[in-house]
Parts: sequence; structure tokens; C-alpha cells
Amino acid sequence: MHGTMMWQSLTTGSLIGHAEKYHAATEVVSVETDGTVARSSWGEIAANARRIKSALDNLGVAPGACCATIAWNNRRHLELYFGIGSGGRITHTINPRLTPEQMIFILNDAKDEVLFLDRTFLPIAAKLGAHLKSVKHYILMGPRDDEAAGMVEGLLFYDDLVKTGDPETDWPDLDENAPAALCYTSGTTGNPKGVQYSHRALVLHSIGGNQPDGLNVAARDVVMPVVPMFHVNAWGVPYIAAAVGAKLVMPGPNLDGESLARLIDAEKVTLSLGVPTIWMGLLAGLKSTGIKPASMKRTVVGGSALPPSMIREFRDSHNVELIHAWGMTETSPLGTLNQLLQKHDALSVAEQAKLRESQGRPPWGVDLRIVDETGNELPRDGQTQGELQIRGHWIVESYFGQDRPALTKDGWFDTGDVATLDGDGYMTIRDRSKDIIKSGGEWISTVELENIAIAHPKVIHAAAIAARHPKWDERPVVLVVAAPGQNPTEAEILASYEGKVANWQIPDRVIFVDELPLGATGKVLKNKLRESYCDVLIKEV
Ligand code: ADP
Repeated sequence: MHGTMMWQSLTTGSLIGHAEKYHAATEVVSVETDGTVARSSWGEIAANARRIKSALDNLGVAPGACCATIAWNNRRHLELYFGIGSGGRITHTINPRLTPEQMIFILNDAKDEVLFLDRTFLPIAAKLGAHLKSVKHYILMGPRDDEAAGMVEGLLFYDDLVKTGDPETDWPDLDENAPAALCYTSGTTGNPKGVQYSHRALVLHSIGGNQPDGLNVAARDVVMPVVPMFHVNAWGVPYIAAAVGAKLVMPGPNLDGESLARLIDAEKVTLSLGVPTIWMGLLAGLKSTGIKPASMKRTVVGGSALPPSMIREFRDSHNVELIHAWGMTETSPLGTLNQLLQKHDALSVAEQAKLRESQGRPPWGVDLRIVDETGNELPRDGQTQGELQIRGHWIVESYFGQDRPALTKDGWFDTGDVATLDGDGYMTIRDRSKDIIKSGGEWISTVELENIAIAHPKVIHAAAIAARHPKWDERPVVLVVAAPGQNPTEAEILASYEGKVANWQIPDRVIFVDELPLGATGKVLKNKLRESYCDVLIKEV
């Protein structure tokens, strides 16, 4: 063969291998489960990851076995991402906020052989133990702890285990299509389903998702993923940070606004990532501490719709650019990110700000389309809304354990979201198809109604839902959490809709509540709200 290029398998071992060789001294800072701060480096993380791989070999854990983690964002969890996955097993991250029944289902479904836990979650292990069919080893992510040893029979300790491993172990040669990680959807829309990420998908996601118009993480950055490592691989940040050798700041268990504000200040974080509810907390934390996040340039926000009022507040009060992104467990997750095009330079600041509100456009590697109920593609005119479908290098093909592809006949994944697309590929989520309000055959976007309510200065949080209606089938009702010390009236809130949406889209009722129910990944549980409030209009009529 003449004229060929070198071929190397695209594996996550190559990512940590790069960080180890070229960025060994770059810091990884971790808030530990006991609240102390541990300072480590990519060199140490990589050596410990190798030790974990070797220690799992010594324990007799089979190649390809699933090893679960229930843990915060911390350095040991980072070591496990690579120690398990790059070592030829599957890093199965579990969301600790799932119900015990869901966790039992997931652990048995994945046939996890090992369960790594942070101290916080030890009581969960003690409770689940009897129901778990495949777990052979429980490993506490910390030093030896006699009290903990009394809670779970045969408990092993991470720091002891690491010492038994060989830091020189080579990463195995793996097929790039072999699975490296497994994550279940958070179950807000039914039973959790497993999505298995191949090495190849994770590597291509790291490259495609980190282009200049994507996350744009560089070696000079200090990155703080607040999005949990159990929520779609912390949006790929551990892999991307390793690929570019960025300093990582792992915030551990304290995700309240004040703790995050202090950490940003102390570690000079330049970029962070998380869901909107986290950033609402940070805004409050910045206010109460008086901290100015001077180092922070960008925050990537996704997981649920980013209220435009939050973009403005971060920009005007803190000089932080909020980047709106969209994705799902099934899409690894980066599907779109909002960055402007060159032609937008000529627009006014207000026009640019308006464009930044959408969920953005797809990076190389993924493709989007919208279709009607019969699967016909709809125009990309920024107006027509339809079912959003996606395909690409890091999109699920079939769910874990299912033979059937999860795709349409022509190879697209149906996201369950309703969206518009414009000619440049800017995508705007109008709703989830099951949340959208169908009033007399017309659709009303709950996202739009929520954004208007949240922009009201007396409101801190809002959720719009469909309530049943005898004449229109469904009508919008908005649940509102007042800002601290504020007492808005229904009329005040309703007045803020005037001129912003068509009259028939204005909610029928405003209901004030103390808080909104949040799911395992910090999203509002609309199904719970619908259960409680779907009849409020019927009872009145
Ligand atoms: P789950 O479906 O269990 O909530 P995911 O984290 O996979 O778990 O959620 C993906 C869904 O979250 C998307 O299909 C979409 O409905 C919603 N979502 C994600 N990012 C955004 C965003 N920026 N704006 C609006 N909705 C979003």
C-alpha cells in the first residue's frame, strides 16, 4: 500500500494520554466530598487512572464490564472516567437523585459489576444492596473509613485500591467502536433508557464540540463543569479538558450560588457550564457575597431553555457572556451552540442579543432537520415549527440492550422536541412535544410564556403548563415563584404578556407557588405540575 495515512483508533485513552504527556503539571482542583479542596494535576490524574485500570484487572473485573459511579464532580470521579473507560470497561455514571427503584432498575439493567460511591451516597448503597443482582464490589471513593465499613459489607476503599494498581499500565488497544461510557436518560419522560457512548463518538464529540464556535476550550482556560458528571458526561468537559490540557475545577457537592461564587473567585475560572437553575443561584450568590466574577468570560447554559433576562443580567452586571446550548443524553450531548456569524457583525447590539437567545446552530459532525407528523421535511424559515430530528457522529443509534434502532427509517433520531430552524441553521426550541400547549388546535410555546414571566422583576422562577379546558381542550396556566420579598399580583404578571404574545396566547391563570418541583438534573418537572394543576380551569368553569 502506498500513499496511505497512519491509522490510529480514536479512543479516550488517547485524550488522557495527551494530557499526561503535554499538560502533566496543569492543575486539577477538586472540592472533595468533605468540603476540603484537593489540588492535583493532569499528571497525577492520569497515573491514578492507570492504577485504577490495573487494580480492576487485579480484582478480576472482566474486560468490557460496566462499572458504576454515584459521585459528585471531583478528582476521583475524573480518574474513574478514564481508569474504567479507557481501560476497556464501561464508565456507567448514575444520577443520585433518581428514585431507589430507578437506581435498582438501572444497576441491574446495566449488569454493573462494581459500584464506586462518594461518602454522601453510602446510605443509598446500604439500602439498595439486597436488590442488586450483579454488583460484586462496593468501593468508597475516599480513604479507609471504619464507620463506613460497618455500613456496607465487604466495602473497599478507593485510596487503598489505587495503591494496589500499576501507574505504568498501558491503555489497551481498543476498537474505537467499543463502548467507553454509559448514561441513562433522567426519566422525566418515562423509564430511564441507557445510551452507550463509543470511544469514537466521545473523541469526535470532543473535537467537533470544541471548535471555536463550540465550547472553545483552550489550554489557557480554567474550566468549571457545574453540570454533573452523571449528566451526559458533564457535557463532555472531562474529555475535552484532557484533549486540550485545560485546568479543571471540580466543584464537588456544594452547588449553591455562594459556594460557586467563591470558587470562581479563588480559582480564576474562565469558563463554566450548567443548567439555568444553577445560574439563577449564582446570580443570587454573587449579590449576597459581593463577589465580582472578574476572571469569568463565558458560561455555557443548556439542559432547559435559557431565559433571555438571564443573558442580560450576566452581561450587564457581570460582563459574562452566556452561551445557549442544546443537547440530550442521546446526543452526547452537544447538538447546537449559539455563536454569531460574520454577517451579524453589522447588526446592532440589541439585534445581536436577540439572535443569541436561540439554542444556536449545529457544529460540524451533526445535522438537524424539522419534520411534520408524517415525516416530511419542513422549511428552514425560522417560523415553521416541527419535530426536531438529528443525526451525526455522536448521536445514539439504538438504546442499551435494545436490538431495534432508535431511528427513523431514513436514519434520523427524533428528539421529541418541537423547534424552528432558520436558513443559517439557528434552532429555537419551542417546547417538548409533550409539554406544548394545544389550544383549539393552535400551539402555544411554554418556553415563551415562561421567559416572559421570568423577565418580570418580581419573579424568580416560572413554569407554564397546559390545563384542561372544556372549550379549547387546553389553555395555558403559569406557575410563578415570586422573588424574595416581592408580592406580585396576577394582574401584574398578566400585564407583562401584553404586546409580547398574541392575545389568545396569554395565560388564563397565574398561580403563585413557593417552589417548583425539580427533577434529577435540575429541570422543572412539568408532568408533576400537570398532575397537580391540570384541572384548575375545569373546576372553575
Ligand atoms: P431528560 O430527557 O430525561 O430530561 P436530557 O438531559 O437528555 O434528559 O434532556 C434533553 C432534553 O432537554 C431535550 O430534548 C430538550 O427538551 C431539553 N433541553 C436541553 N437543552 C435545552 C435548551 N437549551 N433549551 C430548551 N430545552 C433544552
